[in-house]
Amino acid sequence: MSETIFSKIIRKEIPADIVYETESVLAFRDINPQAPVHILVIPKLEIPMVSDIDGVEHASLLGKLFDAANLVAKNEGLAENGYRVVINCGKDGGQDVYHLHLHVLGGRKMNWPPG
Ligand code: 5GP
Repeated sequence: MSETIFSKIIRKEIPADIVYETESVLAFRDINPQAPVHILVIPKLEIPMVSDIDGVEHASLLGKLFDAANLVAKNEGLAENGYRVVINCGKDGGQDVYHLHLHVLGGRKMNWPPG
């Protein structure tokens, strides 16, 4: 699968409001926020979607993604009241950008079930 706009963000070819970065993970604010805090946490490795994850090969990277999600949530003041972490997978899952990403959403009460 070809690269997405997130690869350009990783390479700093297009701007993004980056809130956290390591050698393997990047977190930046969503351009179309759905909550007062809406941050995308992505691996720098191009994994298109959840169904492309290899639990063994990507285990360490997945741990780093969730560590980053929890850290940015804490930095944004979400730790006390909680937050939602969402991964859309594929067409029916509502995925638009085919580079694996965690949505970290918070700052308001989330609804369930999701739309
Ligand atoms: P998906 O629907 O694939 O789960 O989520 C993709 C997310 O990426 C959407 O929430 C969308 O607003 C966000 N997004 C798409 N293009 C850009 C961009 O160029 N910059 C930023 N910061 N977010 C983007």
